Amino acid sequence: MSLDSLEKLFVEELKDTYNAEKQLTKALKKMAKGAADPTLSKAFETHLAETERQIERLEQVFESIDMAPRGKTCEGMKGIIAEGNEMMGEDGEDEVKDAALIASAQRVEHYEIAAYGTLRHYAERLGYTKAEKLRAETLEEEKATDEKLNKIAKQLVNPKAQHAA
Ligand code: FE
Ligand code: FE
Repeated sequence: MSLDSLEKLFVEELKDTYNAEKQLTKALKKMAKGAADPTLSKAFETHLAETERQIERLEQVFESIDMAPRGKTCEGMKGIIAEGNEMMGEDGEDEVKDAALIASAQRVEHYEIAAYGTLRHYAERLGYTKAEKLRAETLEEEKATDEKLNKIAKQLVNPKAQHAA
């Protein structure tokens, strides 16, 4: 594979993101179970359902450019998830571990926001209108999730973590 056109780069980025989202569905299930705070756990569950829809949207994007959906291991997402898992495996106070879970989840969202922002721009340039629209929807969901996690961290989890133990 040589990266000699924006079309090819778009496909590469698409495969990467497709794989990243698939990795994330597994991770979010674990995170929902691992979170001690019910509001946080619920937020992960909600985003899991959204992520499953995002995967379907990506499949529609593949279809819209006449390609079968295919992923390519996203090492970046793998790394972020591995770090989160490591934290979850540590001993400690529930509240502090919840704060760590949010720190990890927000890294994930920012990573996705960057990926979808790029893909959206490429789609726009290449005139892939359907792809562009589908991506825009997902991008908004990722941003909203990041905002929600921000709120939970600031108002709920971090203050408790500060006074834990
Ligand atoms: Fe996503
Ligand atoms: Fe996300």
